[in-house]
Amino acid sequence: MERQYDLVIIGAGPAGMAASVYGSRAGLKTLLLDNGAPGGKLIKTHKISNYPGVKELAGADLAMQMFEQATSFGAEYAYGDVEKVDADKKVYLSDGTVIEAKAVLVATGTRERLLNIPGEKENIGKGVSFCAVCDGAFFKDKEVVVIGGGNSALEESLYLTQFVKGLTIVIRRDVFRAEKRIQDQIEANEKIKVIVKHIPKEILSENGKVSGIVLENVETKETRTLDCQGIFPYIGQDPMTACLEGLDVLDPKGYVIVDKNMETKIPGIYAAGDVIQKELRQVVTATNDGAIASQHAFHQITGI
Ligand code: NAP
Repeated sequence: MERQYDLVIIGAGPAGMAASVYGSRAGLKTLLLDNGAPGGKLIKTHKISNYPGVKELAGADLAMQMFEQATSFGAEYAYGDVEKVDADKKVYLSDGTVIEAKAVLVATGTRERLLNIPGEKENIGKGVSFCAVCDGAFFKDKEVVVIGGGNSALEESLYLTQFVKGLTIVIRRDVFRAEKRIQDQIEANEKIKVIVKHIPKEILSENGKVSGIVLENVETKETRTLDCQGIFPYIGQDPMTACLEGLDVLDPKGYVIVDKNMETKIPGIYAAGDVIQKELRQVVTATNDGAIASQHAFHQITGI
């Protein structure tokens, strides 16, 4: 890895990879950094069936295809754990490396929100999982509970039913947030039960493994215990924007505020994908953001 680039992209999810394609194809000296495997949320997603041109594909396969394309026009890919970006567009890595850029694109995405209840953190990897695709096979013929009623919770529940004996979805209201199409599939699946108007209060364990979950009725406050061996919280996401703290470019929830060019109020510092303040968080909108950011950076850097 060198120390000076035209464009440094932080995060190799769909937004970062699309930005890499557009930046490097336009001739920018481009560095794509990630502190994990490339693909972002794609690699934790069972199937993608709403990305144009891709009828249905495993998330990991789409991630690999995007990655091959992202690095095929000369962009460099490197491991990098970014701690800070400053207003001069210097990127500080946790190993002490400092990289100078003419433009920086933050495409760091979001991370899964915790339930923050007793028994959760200590049972991660012992029955509590945030990734059905990664861990689903460990729950063959077991009972599992999924918390949440959004697209993630319902799609990953459908994926889990190929392994589990039974699956209970717990939602705090009496309506799902997920798309109707997915709700219909949930209703039609005989392995899935739904408990409405309950919230999780405690995760129980025996002999170092999850054994159940205590739920509370949001109206009556009565509690009940479900026996289960697996618990998958899918209750939403929080942005990963610690590297931008101090630049005054975040909204109160921590999402990056950008303009129509995906540029923050600091010239040359861009953000794209799930990490920005927006309504629709999808692979297709992330790639859109990444392309726009790189194209604008190209114009700014070259004056063309
Ligand atoms: P989400 O849409 O925000 O849904 C979160 C779910 O968790 C909601 O049902 C919410 O309940 C519930 N919840 C939140 N906090 C809770 C708590 N403390 N206790 C119990 N339940 C709680 O999150 P997501 O499913 O992770 O999706 C995030 C974004 O990615 C969304 O924009 C989504 O559309 C998108 N996405 C799209 C696809 C797709 O298009 N195929 C797939 C996955 C994700 P309430 O409804 O009562 O608030």
